[in-house]
Amino acid sequence: MACPICSKPTDPKFTPFCSRRCADVDLSRWLKGTYAIPGAPAGEEDEARPSGGGESSESSGLRSPDKGMDRE
Ligand SMILES: [Zn+2]
Repeated sequence: MACPICSKPTDPKFTPFCSRRCADVDLSRWLKGTYAIPGAPAGEEDEARPSGGGESSESSGLRSPDKGMDRE
């Protein structure tokens, strides 16, 4: 079996890696992978845009330019 990081023969002490370094590399990759989940950048837009709760709550049903069909 070869080290998944550098393809060198694995060391029983660091299975399935060949060394402590490669184990750390794999761990860091794994952690970064969890932070950067593809297809889930949704939350940021809502935070960036003001929800406008109390400003036009009365006439929000008639005029809502913020919720237009296509916003370009
Ligand atoms: Zn390695």
